[in-house]
Amino acid sequence: MYDRIYNFSAGPSMLPLAVLEKSRDDLMNYGGSGMSVMEMSHRSKVYDAIIKDAEALLREVMEIPENYKVLFLQGGASMQFASVPMNLLRTGVADYIVTGQFSGKAYKEALKYSDKINLAATTKDENFTRIPRQEELKLTPNADYVHICFNNTIFGTKWDYIPDTGDVPLVADMSSCILSEPVDVSKFGLIYAGAQKNVAPAGLTIVIVREDLIRDDLPAFVPTVCSYKVMADNESMYNTPPCWPIYICKLVLEWIKEIGGLTAMKAMNEKKAKILYDYLEGSKLFKNPVNPQCRSMMNVTFRAEDDEINAKFVKESGANGMANLKGHRSVGGMRASIYNAMPYEGVEKLVNFLKEFEAANM
Ligand SMILES: *Cc1c(COP(=O)(O)O)cnc(C)c1O
Repeated sequence: MYDRIYNFSAGPSMLPLAVLEKSRDDLMNYGGSGMSVMEMSHRSKVYDAIIKDAEALLREVMEIPENYKVLFLQGGASMQFASVPMNLLRTGVADYIVTGQFSGKAYKEALKYSDKINLAATTKDENFTRIPRQEELKLTPNADYVHICFNNTIFGTKWDYIPDTGDVPLVADMSSCILSEPVDVSKFGLIYAGAQKNVAPAGLTIVIVREDLIRDDLPAFVPTVCSYKVMADNESMYNTPPCWPIYICKLVLEWIKEIGGLTAMKAMNEKKAKILYDYLEGSKLFKNPVNPQCRSMMNVTFRAEDDEINAKFVKESGANGMANLKGHRSVGGMRASIYNAMPYEGVEKLVNFLKEFEAANM
């Protein structure tokens, strides 16, 4: 109807069609206000209801405990690479587990704020094809926090367990897996996510932080907009929040609720990932390098040995209505990002195309 194609982009990525349609219907005049959400004051009554609904829905869908604050911020996940150490370092000691590019960036950023940042484990030597096991983690007792990236967008791996960090708060970058399945929020001290993979258009970053980790005795250099305390006290409205992405976030959460919440979402995501991984396991042309235990449900990497074949596949899939299958430049090959909004039919189409392509190129 709209000539839309299947967009396998790692982010920004597909949004549910129902959400796009709803936002279109409201675009010129939201709820009788006579204006678009894009045009209204963030201090207006109409907008206040939107941001409050978005938070209430997120709390409901993710079952966020009472003693956690939800913050709607700007700056992307990358700003949290800095905000986390700025807000959470007390003794200066924190453990970082590096399982890919983004956790590596977070680690590097933290080193700007302390020279006592510990690399607790990394799978770099194995090209990040797996997640380290609990017994490999060299955790520091009484560290200020442990940082992980829960789903590794570029390498296509996901933590298949929640590491046990004892009393040390666990901080997780969930940019590319938030809302894809239920998670026990109480196991984490802080969760953050850039919204542009699974939640909303780019511009919104969600932070879910346990209240006891929010403090007001921050070093003087910390920018006011990076203070969790200031943002929490002002209900994410210290300054102008990313109004439009928060509104879309609310619509996406309504969509997830209608589907049946995160349990239903997980079942749908598993079903999509399974047909793709099943094909790759049997393929003679394409291989997925990831340890099966650590497979991402959201980002599926695969490649042929011959780079000419990879380039040909990207080109031909693109010509057949499947966009952005080229892998990240640091990994090569292909990557299919199959977030919540990617319909089953899109993955089915990809698998059928892979089969045809393999038959024609073996
Ligand atoms: C995309 C992504 C980032 C970077 O997010 P920005 O919002 O662009 O800063 C960080 N971490 C993970 C896991 C990602 O997928």
